[in-house]
Amino acid sequence: MIYKMLLMGPQGCGKGTQAEIVSKILRVPALSMGQLLRDEIASGSDLGKKFDVILKRGDLVSDEDAAMMLKRRLEKSDAQGGYIIDGYPRNLSQWKAFDFDTPTHVIVIDVPREESLKRLGGRLTCRVCNKVGAMKDGIKPGDLCACGGEWYQRDDDTPEAISRRLQIYENDTQPVIEKYGALVKRVDGVGSVEEVATRIKQLL
Ligand SMILES: [Zn+2]
Repeated sequence: MIYKMLLMGPQGCGKGTQAEIVSKILRVPALSMGQLLRDEIASGSDLGKKFDVILKRGDLVSDEDAAMMLKRRLEKSDAQGGYIIDGYPRNLSQWKAFDFDTPTHVIVIDVPREESLKRLGGRLTCRVCNKVGAMKDGIKPGDLCACGGEWYQRDDDTPEAISRRLQIYENDTQPVIEKYGALVKRVDGVGSVEEVATRIKQLL
């Protein structure tokens, strides 16, 4: 069985963490577009150089270029047995660009709006490795991550920014989920990381 899984859900649903867990179970890579972009830029490839210029200018990488980057990544040997992509496609334009492969599983982690707001409000990011942590786990801005980098609260983790992102999810991502129709399975994202992981495992 090859698992080509899209893991979706609103910001704060824990899909990044769950992608890592399921990746270990299925022995397939967990991919996110943000990380792929950073890796592509770090690789110094022609595409990476192009992305670097675009992002430094403050613009967004086009959906076609992002899809091309993903296509190349999926051609690598470690993705031949399947993959998990976290948080993509985010909108119908990305969905149209993602036309070179067909997922086998689309799992949506549902969490109520208040829960997303609560979780993201306490979210910290490492300046160096981009790992995400939570203030409820006892870290605060200025503390150091295991990699030595500093934990900080991103501008887009303020309540206003979070509300705006949740609204974008409703407007732009829900229509993508509808496109996947019968492929979509939903899990309740409220509970511990282990509880949610168990619910996902039951769908595999
Ligand atoms: Zn770090």
